[in-house]
Amino acid sequence: MIIAIDGPAASGKGTLGKRLAQHYGYRHLDTGVIYRAVAYGLIQAGQDLRDEAAAVAVALELDPEEFGNPALKSHEVGQAASVVSAIPRVREVLLNFQRQFAADPPGAVLDGRDIGTVICPNADVKIFVVADPKVRARRRTLEAQSRGEAADEAAILADIIQRDERDQNRPVAPLKPAPDAYLLDNSQLDIEGGVRAAIDIIEAVRAGRSRG
Ligand code: C5P
Repeated sequence: MIIAIDGPAASGKGTLGKRLAQHYGYRHLDTGVIYRAVAYGLIQAGQDLRDEAAAVAVALELDPEEFGNPALKSHEVGQAASVVSAIPRVREVLLNFQRQFAADPPGAVLDGRDIGTVICPNADVKIFVVADPKVRARRRTLEAQSRGEAADEAAILADIIQRDERDQNRPVAPLKPAPDAYLLDNSQLDIEGGVRAAIDIIEAVRAGRSRG
């Protein structure tokens, strides 16, 4: 079984993906981390984020062992990832890794921007998570503060809006719900509430399938 979760920056899809994977005993891939790793590689090498050849070279050399690096979590790297991820060749290079991850047994939860539309169009369940930008900015601010970082909520909000805009309007694999995705608005839900709502969706889809 493949569960695809898409949604904008800081919508809570990463936490949801992790929790669903635990619940069902599946593997979890936060695909944003992959684009973040490419962006980070370019920044470290002092290269231009829009340099296609350099970005493709970094993408080809990616080491999944690096995905846990806390430096990938920063806001700057998130912004840089949204620039790098708009390069079609970079997305192409990263496609197989994601599809292979999804196909391996026993099942997988992938979260990102184009999982239900491009990476796994045949996913068993697709959930598109949304939340009010102000709520997302608040959550990101609290998260950053809990890591001991200074965080300016207004700047984070501006950043989130800019990133949504870039992710939604790029020509390749833009952020948008797949026609068969279930919308989950978690503006008013805490983590547990979001997880319960998602499990309800998944179970309803499974029940419908076993009846049909
Ligand atoms: O989800 P996260 O904030 O870690 O993603 C960082 C950036 O990577 C996003 O703003 C988006 O531009 C890009 N991304 C993408 N496709 C995905 C996951 C992330 O383009 N499947």
